[in-house]
Amino acid sequence: MVKAVVGANWGDEGKGKITDMLAKEADIIVRFQGGANAGHTIVNNYGKFALHTLPSGVFYDHTTSIIGNGVALNIPVLFKEIQSIVDRDVPKPKVLVSDRAQIVMPYHILFDQYEEERLGGKSFGSTKSGIAPFYSDKYAKIGFQVSELFETESLKEKIKGVCEMKNVLLEHLYHKPAIDENELFETMMEYKEMVAPYVCDVSLYLCDAINEGKNILLEGQLGTLKDTDHGIYPMVTSSSTLAAYGAIGAGIPPYEIKEIITVCKAYSSAVGAGAFVSELFGDEADELRRRGGDGGEYGATTGRPRRMGWFDCVASKYGCRLQGTTDVAFTVLDVLGYLEEIPVCVGYELDGVVTTDFPTTGKLERCKPVLKVLPGWMEEIRGITKFEDLPVNCQNYVNFVEEQIGFPITMVSNGPGREDIIYRKSSFKK
Ligand code: GDP
Repeated sequence: MVKAVVGANWGDEGKGKITDMLAKEADIIVRFQGGANAGHTIVNNYGKFALHTLPSGVFYDHTTSIIGNGVALNIPVLFKEIQSIVDRDVPKPKVLVSDRAQIVMPYHILFDQYEEERLGGKSFGSTKSGIAPFYSDKYAKIGFQVSELFETESLKEKIKGVCEMKNVLLEHLYHKPAIDENELFETMMEYKEMVAPYVCDVSLYLCDAINEGKNILLEGQLGTLKDTDHGIYPMVTSSSTLAAYGAIGAGIPPYEIKEIITVCKAYSSAVGAGAFVSELFGDEADELRRRGGDGGEYGATTGRPRRMGWFDCVASKYGCRLQGTTDVAFTVLDVLGYLEEIPVCVGYELDGVVTTDFPTTGKLERCKPVLKVLPGWMEEIRGITKFEDLPVNCQNYVNFVEEQIGFPITMVSNGPGREDIIYRKSSFKK
């Protein structure tokens, strides 16, 4: 049985917490896209962790953690991350890396930095982890699969060819030092040593696991609105953040994904540039940012303050639809307990007409939020375990959002810990 945990919004919805929680019942957790450019924050009995590459199931000793072929694999970052959790007394995780995963090369990170410098004020707000140059090269067919590290002669040849091309750009476009092909080859040999014990034919492994009835979780990074195709292009990430891509990025049949749990946060936050219709500014934004998440809304990888906004029904309805949502996990609801009134964005006004359908980027820039103000509950809701025990205004907030987005909210998260979860019956659930 395969389930996917994915984001409905701009990322940072709390997928890590939901994955960590669901991983209790899982045998295998797979990362299928993205790289070390975003992170998950997880709080459990070992402490608080920020993971960037490892899936959120690494804290259980019964799970196998997989880096699928769709991931942008930064080998030294992966190994530092394994070491950092082992150093904090977490049992050494079982990790497998797809032999078809491609490698983030040292020059991808440099090109990311150089390009942001070149673009200046027009930059995309990249995390400079090399993700865009990595995926560009992957699709230009000049990337390096993990398996290629073991084909030393052809690797040398390929490095030579790639360096020739990259060095032209480095010299003439960016005016930066050239890549030394011998040094790069040596670095690749170090990467080979690091990755060798973990390399696996992942799609075959997963095919066997499915046949044996194992429980598999696919863990998405970022959310629908950062999807390359369906997000706010070009202010998106360079891989697909959709559950559908889970099949490709893990190497399993699409029809095996039986549940798609879309994580949706009770208010909005975003990182990087791009239109953000329900965005808040000034003191209101500062207060929500300070109270948000678990210890404030600051990037897990970059520490950057996140942009804040009210819950956006238009973006979330679209986000859930594109994911193919079977269940919504509605997170971080406890944070809103300080508000007497809670505005919710229920529509976008576009050139004088109100719409609830999420538009393409050019139109999105012109949209103004249509807000509806709901009464707050002004209570601490952490520790509550039954939906009926939540304050009535809090129940109504969840019911209202569900009605607006049109997908069943079957889980409500009211705290960062594994146990902070309320299961809810939804009349929307087929
Ligand atoms: P992810 O990338 O989607 O996993 O999200 P992040 O880890 O970047 O951000 C989610 C933050 O919210 C983390 O700090 C979590 O510990 C925290 N979190 C998750 N669920 C809840 C919740 O229900 N309540 C509170 N207060 N914090 C939560």
